[in-house]
Parts: sequence; C-alpha cells; structure tokens
Amino acid sequence: MTIAARRYHRRAMTIASVNPATGETFATFEPLGAAEIEQKLQRSAEGFAVNRDRSFDERAQRMRKAAEILESRASAYARTITMEMGKPITAAVAEVKKCAMVCRHYADKAQEYLAPEPIATDARESYVRFDPLGVVLAVMPWNFPFWQVFRFAAPALMAGNAGLLKHASNVPQSALAIEEILREAGFDSGEFQTLLIGSEQVAAVLDDERVKAATLTGSEPAGASVASTAAKRIKKSVLELGGSDPFVVMPSADLDAAVKTGIKARIVNNGQSCIAAKRFIVHEEIADAFESRFVDAMNALRVGDPLDESTDVGPLAMPQIVNDLEKQVSASIDAGAKLLTGGTRLATRGNFYAPTVLSDIPHDAPAYAEETFGPVASLFRVKDADEAVRLANATEFGLGASVWTNDPSETERFVADIESGQVFVNAMVASDPRMPFGGVKHSGFGRELGVYGIREFVNIKTVWIA
Ligand code: NAP
Repeated sequence: MTIAARRYHRRAMTIASVNPATGETFATFEPLGAAEIEQKLQRSAEGFAVNRDRSFDERAQRMRKAAEILESRASAYARTITMEMGKPITAAVAEVKKCAMVCRHYADKAQEYLAPEPIATDARESYVRFDPLGVVLAVMPWNFPFWQVFRFAAPALMAGNAGLLKHASNVPQSALAIEEILREAGFDSGEFQTLLIGSEQVAAVLDDERVKAATLTGSEPAGASVASTAAKRIKKSVLELGGSDPFVVMPSADLDAAVKTGIKARIVNNGQSCIAAKRFIVHEEIADAFESRFVDAMNALRVGDPLDESTDVGPLAMPQIVNDLEKQVSASIDAGAKLLTGGTRLATRGNFYAPTVLSDIPHDAPAYAEETFGPVASLFRVKDADEAVRLANATEFGLGASVWTNDPSETERFVADIESGQVFVNAMVASDPRMPFGGVKHSGFGRELGVYGIREFVNIKTVWIA
C-alpha cells in the first residue's frame, strides 16, 4: 500500500487546531449537522444569484477590498497559519500577501479573460460567451491553507460563481478567517462560506443539486473519491493532486544557483508542497560536486520553532506525516539506499524531522518515485539527457519539473519530453496568478490560475444568431 493510500485509511479526523511544534490542541470544533448544512447550501444558492447579477466592476471592487484586508492583517493571519500547520512564519506572511496578489490579478483581468469571443461563421452573428456555473464545492488541503483557497476563490467569485469551502480538518481557524475576509470585503450574501465538515460528509454535499461542480486539491485517494462522486451526478471536477517533481541538473548549469535553489525547492513549506523538488537527477560529470554542496546545505538548515523568523524548517503538520516519512525513509534504506544525512526525528515534542538526503536509491524503494511529503531529498546520477528524461518520467505523477541547463538543445528536449503540467528552466517550480497551474497523469486534471483557471467553472456558451 502506498503512503497516499495509507493516508486515505486513517481519515475521519476531528476538526481541531493542534500546534505541530508542541502537540498542544488549542481549538476544537463540532462538525456541522444536516440542518446547518442545508441552511448553508440554501444561502449559497442565494449568494450565487446575487453574484451572478453583479457587474465585473462590482465584483472587482470587493476582490480589491479582500486584497486590502489580507495585506493589512497579514501578520495575524500568518500566525494562525503557522500555529495550525507549522510553516515558518516568514513563509506564512508571504503566503497571505500572495493571496492579495491573486485577488488583484483577477479583479484586473477577469473581464478580459471572460470577454465574449466573436467567431466568424455563416451566421449573422456568432460568438462564445462565458457564463458562471453556480455553487462550486472546494475541498482543500492544509499545506497552503490560505493560498490554495484564494487561488480557487478569486477566479470563481470574479466569474460570478459562489464557493463552498470544505477545508482540511486541521486548519479550521484559517478556513473561518477566509470566510470572514470575503464577507467583510462585500461578498456578504452567501457567495463564499466555510463548511466545517469531515471528509465523510463531502459526498452528501456534492450530491446536492444546488452544487454544480467541485475542485479538490489533495491526495490521490481523496481526488478519486470526489471526482467519482461528481461524475456520478454528471458534475464537472478539477483535481490538483500530488507530485514527485524532478529537479534535473546538467553540466552546463550554474551549479551554485542549482544547489541554492534546489535546497529551497525541496524544503519549501517544510518539504510539504506538491511542487517541491523531490527527485534530484544530476549528470554524473557534476554529481560529486552537487552532492557534497547539497548535503552541506541541508545540514546547515535551521530546524526549529516556526514562529522564529530565523527558522528554515519547522515541524511537519501532523504526527502521521512524520510516521509516513519515517517509514518511506527506512524502507528505502532497507531496500539499499544510502543515507547521506538526516533520517531521524528531532526533539521530544512536536513533529520535527531532520533534513534528509538519500542516494543510490533502487527502483523498488519508496524514495524512487513516491511523493515524500517532508524534507527528504532523493539524489540520482544519470549519464545523459535521455536517461534524465526517462528517470524524470519514471513516476505516476506529472505535476512540475525544474531543469537546469544552459544548452539550448537540452532545454528544448526537456521542455518537450518531460511529462508534467509545467517545466521551469533554471528556476524552481512555483505558481503564478498569470500562468496556468496543474498536472497530468496522477497529478490530476484541469487547471487553476491564469485565463485557463477562470474558464474551468463557466458555461462556455455558443451563441448563433441567424
Ligand atoms: P488529503 O488527505 O487528500 O486532504 C485534502 C482535503 O481532502 C482535505 O480537506 C480532506 O479533509 C479532504 N479529504 C480527504 N479524504 C477525502 C475523501 N475521501 N473524500 C472527500 N474529501 C476528502 O491530502 P493531504 O494529505 O492533507 O494533503 C497533501 C496532498 O495534497 C499531497 O499529496 C499534496 O501533493 C497534495 N497537494 C496538491 C496540490 C496541487 O496543486 N496539485 C497542492 C497542495 C497539495 P480532512 O482533512 O477532513 O480529511
């Protein structure tokens, strides 16, 4: 059973905020009952009717207000994020500010992205228009508790839809804060509501005829479950799932920059990011130099209190994630992988795990192709670009890829042949409101962000006037 499958079996979590640095529970919430859910669904349908009739300017005004609220209270929201899921506070502040950016992006661009498109045909007039779909259910993960939600909410609300958020059970205060921000910004008729419910209550909400579509960011089993429930009711879904992104380094690359960015790309969000670089595929000519610098840099990272601004790596979000990671690392070592550094839990309380580097990883070891959700890097050596591409693609995932080379023919080869939703050359994979984001293979389907993202939850309506 893969780690992703194990995660599925341990679900049915209580809704609670537990500090990952200490293990202390500081808030718990009762899941909503059937009557409360019904009320929220009704309000959502009403919210959609209100938002659909607004002009782009009226929606944009509210979205800009949401951006202002996010920026003016960035430190308070960042503290909530860090207390609930353990990311370093500086990264939490950056996350909140990025949410303001996506609000402004869609406030500025939604009308252009959704402008009717005239198409020349035999008709007197023919064009495509983009109408909102209705209430969209968003099932979201804890790892970027604000960003994942805003990158759905900003385009969805600007397109005229309404959103219902089922957030991960360990970030309820983030979920409630987001609802409040959007309400305060003027989406105050039920256009965006948080449902504090467990994952076992999701299917019933999605079955409701007032909910027209779903988007899920999370693990494969959760994605498969939500997408199949949606499909049974002939509802659209978008899935943003896991990744085991390759980070390819070729001899022509700037090695210093590759090592520095590689570390950042591996430990982003304490290593718990879908687009974190997980498999480092390095050309044999430079592999020794890369490996020694990389291991030194992993060793130099400061692991500790996520509220301390000098911390590089905080605790993992939940004890189970440390357990899963520990199993993946020890099974990989048992299978023959070499441990270059780390490989242990740290501290007596909190979910801390040492930055870890593995090399000589055999095909059957978990660290070869599975997603490692924590600060664990897998190093591989390859003879040439062909082998690099083969290894990069030797995973069921296809989310992102980062390739480091200054050779134009290699660049072209990697960009064309790596099976992923995005390829970044001489840069780390990152989401940007202007560019589409999403994966292929088991990393999911559909796109968020940019023009493609806002067109996922609209009726692409053909109009023919004879
Ligand atoms: P998860 O277990 O799938 O949880 C994600 C969300 O799905 C939570 O709200 C969870 O609710 C809910 N959920 C879980 N099982 C469900 C089910 N059977 N039916 C309906 N909802 C269900 O994921 P995770 O382990 O917390 O998050 C990490 C995963 O997300 C990683 O694989 C990561 O790569 C992926 N991710 C992908 C992207 C992307 O954009 N591609 C971005 C971030 C993260 P509860 O918390 O109540 O269980």
